Amino acid sequence: MHMHAYRLHAGDMPRSWYNILADLPRPLDPPLDPRTNAPLADPAPLLRLFPRALVEQEMTVVREVPIPEPVLELYARYRPTPLFRARRLEEALQTPAHIYYKYEGVSPTGSHKPNTALAQAYYNAQEGVHTLVTETGAGQWGSALALACRLLGLETRVYMVRISYQQKPLRRVVMETYGAQVFASPSDRTDFGRKLYGSDSPGSLGIAISEAIEDVLSDPGAKYALGSVLNHVLLHQTIIGLEARKQMEMAGEAPTILVGAVGGGSNFAGLVLPFLGESLRSVNQSYRIVAVEPESCPSLTRGEYRYDYGDTAGMTPLLKMHTLGHDFMPPRIHAGGLRYHGMAPIVSHLYHLGYIEARAYSQKAVFEAGEFFARTEGIIPAPEAAHAVKAVIDLAVEARHTGTRPVILFGLCGHGLLDLSAYDDFHAGRLE
Ligand SMILES: *Cc1c(COP(=O)(O)O)cnc(C)c1O
Repeated sequence: MHMHAYRLHAGDMPRSWYNILADLPRPLDPPLDPRTNAPLADPAPLLRLFPRALVEQEMTVVREVPIPEPVLELYARYRPTPLFRARRLEEALQTPAHIYYKYEGVSPTGSHKPNTALAQAYYNAQEGVHTLVTETGAGQWGSALALACRLLGLETRVYMVRISYQQKPLRRVVMETYGAQVFASPSDRTDFGRKLYGSDSPGSLGIAISEAIEDVLSDPGAKYALGSVLNHVLLHQTIIGLEARKQMEMAGEAPTILVGAVGGGSNFAGLVLPFLGESLRSVNQSYRIVAVEPESCPSLTRGEYRYDYGDTAGMTPLLKMHTLGHDFMPPRIHAGGLRYHGMAPIVSHLYHLGYIEARAYSQKAVFEAGEFFARTEGIIPAPEAAHAVKAVIDLAVEARHTGTRPVILFGLCGHGLLDLSAYDDFHAGRLE
């Protein structure tokens, strides 16, 4: 019998996160203070938003950051996550490529987001914070944070992009089941929200971030949590790639191509950075690394590399990143997690330096790939994850034509069981 699943024992879970800042050939450009446009020398504005431990993690260049014991215990509820060989997909594609995927859909909320939510809630609880405030698009991040806050004894307030609040109520129900308060954004709870409240604005992540930050600044016991983009979020997600490295060893193969879907860049970075770090430290190692984004929100393939705000109102520090502009209004595509105007500074920097490449695909092509994957491997991918699946299928078909035998590893960052209305629209031919 062929073994197609590679599972680590609980004791083999990595005990540190990996920090790529230790190995970058050129350092990141610093964040800028939005009031002065000068490098943010004093972290005081950040400390109003984030606990000290996370501000330190945002800037540290230490290569291995220990995972606190209580976070390891919480991770152990669903980690280590499995790695699978996609034999049935390979056979259906008649490809000489070997295809592996790291599956994060086994977490309680069905995606990789709890990997950072649990860590962030832990550090906030340690520093006496009583409420975390955040934004969410389709609701994956809000669900993960609501779960993490509940397990660590914190309250949660979530500003949910209005169009998702109306069209995808199920993740609101998940958040409320964990005890979070959820508001459709733009809301009437903030000055910025009230400017747009009466209009028929569908909302955006940028607007919801502005509202969440304004909420935090008016409540001394509250802090803010971001589910992607920032260095410390990518750091927490490296548990994915660190596990995958051990599992590829179990499988007796080394990947040659790494693929992941990118919204803000966290699941992609979480998978690829431990491998990329290895190749930055050794001349004998190199990987082809492919980031996949939607054609309708193409921050890497079509965005500019420059300083921009993280939110629509321009309240956050300026980050050097690939961006479509902080006032960009993304179209209403189903992969809600990929509808953000900017890209993580670390991912943007590595793209700019030529260590990673990027591809963009249309919704329809992505759902075709997602359905093909469901019918071969049995897992219905989240629409975000289906972007990676689409690129992998193309790469595997290319290998058939060129006669190469790549070993492809990709991130299946979540399942699509709360996104079935999107698959329904696809089946009914209603996708734009
Ligand atoms: C949030 C989300 C994304 C996009 O965020 P990244 O930070 O780019 O990972 C992708 N896939 C899923 C399943 C998500 O929930």
